Amino acid sequence: MLKVGLTGGIASGKTTVGEMLVRLGAKLIQADAIAHQLMQPGEAVYEEVVRRFGEAILNADRTISRAKLAEAVFGASASPCRIKQLNGIVHPEVIRRQEQWMEEVGRQRADVVAVVEAALILEAGVAQRFDRLVVVTCHFEQRIERWARRLHTDLESARREVTRRMAKQMPDDRKIQVADQVIDNSGSLENTERQVRAAYSTLAEAAVKQMTDAALAGQKNKKAKHES
Ligand code: ATP
Repeated sequence: MLKVGLTGGIASGKTTVGEMLVRLGAKLIQADAIAHQLMQPGEAVYEEVVRRFGEAILNADRTISRAKLAEAVFGASASPCRIKQLNGIVHPEVIRRQEQWMEEVGRQRADVVAVVEAALILEAGVAQRFDRLVVVTCHFEQRIERWARRLHTDLESARREVTRRMAKQMPDDRKIQVADQVIDNSGSLENTERQVRAAYSTLAEAAVKQMTDAALAGQKNKKAKHES
């Protein structure tokens, strides 16, 4: 199995590229989806978030209100350590579930390309958990336009939101420096798809090599044990 981290800045096209990889045969999980699941009633993370941030973040049905939680974490009266506290509760469990998921898909098929899509792989310092890092990029203005189109909002609010979020992310040029593969999503979807196909073929080859190397190492170990 090859563990692949798929990352990139806000509205760069991570999900779009992830969907293309899945169509080519990769397995994929989104860190956002895991975090969303962990915030559901009954999960230990849910309990801890409510304990730390108070019942004021809950909706009437006791689900966590994303808007109220965002206000408690980022609002004008929130202390800057609130985001650290929230990440400290959520991130370790997101990582644990990602690892669990990768082990599971690897058990089902040893030559699988297992992709974790997450915006903050580099910022969170977890890049070393992956065998390969794929970074998606596009121009700043395109992010604003695409964000606005996706959320049916005006360009000015999109600009504010994209700028605010980008300020918390590592700049693209630094992400590109450490990437194994870069997908330039500033052109048409067809253009992106061509790059993704080429990237997937390299990743799939590496996955097969990883599987073969692991099998050979297993055989060597067996032989060494048998001889000793
Ligand atoms: P987020 O950071 O919000 O998770 P993302 O990085 O996953 O976003 P996408 O959701 O894949 O980005 O793309 C943002 C928007 O731009 C989507 O509406 C998508 O359909 C559109 N989009 C992505 N790539 C292209 C492209 N090459 N041309 C035109 N539109 C695109």
